[in-house]
Amino acid sequence: MAAGLPRRMFMVAGPPDSRAVSLTFDDGPHPEHTPALLDRLAAHDIRATFFVLGRNAEKHPDLVRRMSAEGHDVGHHSFTHGEPATTSARELVAESWRTARLLGELLGRRPRLFRPPHGKITAGKALGLWASGQTIVLWNQDPKDFSCGSAEALRAWFVGRPFAGGDVVLLHDVHPYAAQAMDAIAVAVRAAGLGFCPVSAWFDSPGPAASARAA
Ligand SMILES: [Zn+2]
Repeated sequence: MAAGLPRRMFMVAGPPDSRAVSLTFDDGPHPEHTPALLDRLAAHDIRATFFVLGRNAEKHPDLVRRMSAEGHDVGHHSFTHGEPATTSARELVAESWRTARLLGELLGRRPRLFRPPHGKITAGKALGLWASGQTIVLWNQDPKDFSCGSAEALRAWFVGRPFAGGDVVLLHDVHPYAAQAMDAIAVAVRAAGLGFCPVSAWFDSPGPAASARAA
């Protein structure tokens, strides 16, 4: 489905000539794991992208504001994380509007990055999202942190992995592992000669922003 579509509409990975990797965190905010993760990201000067659930953003508005204040992209990931197979295009778009409106109230601007639950999208759902100006963001690197069972297992996935510029890594801030493994993640990516950028850097100002972040 990505074939031929501009990255502004449908992104699986960033430009291969980017010198940065994008870390993305789904399903939060979580009252314990998200602050811990934000602390580690700040310690390593990493700007990332969060795809928050509306129902969790509603419960933890201060964490959403903190994400944005610390330079991260805040995208959305539906309100309820409904099962894609039983969620109609109409329902998904309605949830995306509900979450976008909530984030707009919290942040003063509507989000434009959307990650579909489980990465499942249909043409009908995509058309509804594009009609409201959303960029659909998937990923090309999946360490499956939700099933790692320990930070050590997640660290092991990152160490020595041949990262490439433009990689988009799927992680979750409703588990403790990403925060606990962040020191090793920062070292592993930088050892590959790459830096970090939020996904919006790849279409806001292609190249220079991502390169600057990699420096
Ligand atoms: Zn999710």
